[in-house]
Amino acid sequence: MRQIITLIGILVFNFSFAQQTKVYNDKLNIVGDIYEYKAQVDEDPNLELVDLEDFVPGIILDIRYATTNNFTGQQVYTKAKAFARWPVAEALAIVQEELGKRNLALKVYDAYRPYSATVLFYEIYKDTTYVASPWSGSRHNRGAAIDISIVDLETGEEIQMPTGYDDFTEAAHPDYMDLPQNVIQNRDFLINTMQKHGFKVYASEWWHFDFVGWEAFPLMDIPFDKL
Ligand SMILES: [Zn+2]
Repeated sequence: MRQIITLIGILVFNFSFAQQTKVYNDKLNIVGDIYEYKAQVDEDPNLELVDLEDFVPGIILDIRYATTNNFTGQQVYTKAKAFARWPVAEALAIVQEELGKRNLALKVYDAYRPYSATVLFYEIYKDTTYVASPWSGSRHNRGAAIDISIVDLETGEEIQMPTGYDDFTEAAHPDYMDLPQNVIQNRDFLINTMQKHGFKVYASEWWHFDFVGWEAFPLMDIPFDKL
C-alpha cells in the first residue's frame, strides 16, 4: 500500500512538474532559474522585479489570480503579490503620485505573471484575443505589463469602468463607445494617464497596459515565493 502511495506521489509530482515546465515554443528564452535571474539583475539592475506594494506608496492590490475570483475559477498564485521590473515600477509610482493628488489610487489586478500561468490560461481559454499565446508568451511574463484600474479613496470603491476585470467581450475594448459618458471619461482618464507615463493600452482590454520598451525584458517562469 505504501509503495502504491509513493508511486502515486511520484506520478502527481512528475505531472505537475511537467505542467509547470511545458514550453510551447523551444525558441522562447524563458528564465526559469532563480540564479540565472539574479545574475541578470547583477548585470542590469533594471531587470529587477520590484515588489509594487513596497515601491509604490498607496497602491492597492486586488490580485485576482491569488483567489478563485477569476476566469479560471482556480487559485493560480499562492501569494497575492504584484511585481514589475524596476523602470515599470518607477513609472507606476509617478502615475500613483499623480492620482493621489486627486484622492485616487491605482488598483492592480495582475502584474508579473510566471510563464506557467500563461500556459494554464491558454489551456483553459484558447482565444488569443484575450489570453496570451504560449507560443510567444505574455508581456506579463516579462514583468512589463500590468492590469490596473482606479479606486476613489473617498468611497474606497473602484470608479465605474466599462466592464469588470477579464471580461472577454467587445465592451472591454478601449475604443468601445456604447457606454455612459462618465464611464467613457473614467476609462479614458486611466488610459491617458498611463500613456502619458510610458504605457500603452492593449486593443482588447481597457485594464491591460504594456510598458513601452517591454522587449528589453526576458520572459520568466519563476514563482512569487522565490522572488
Ligand atoms: Zn493583462
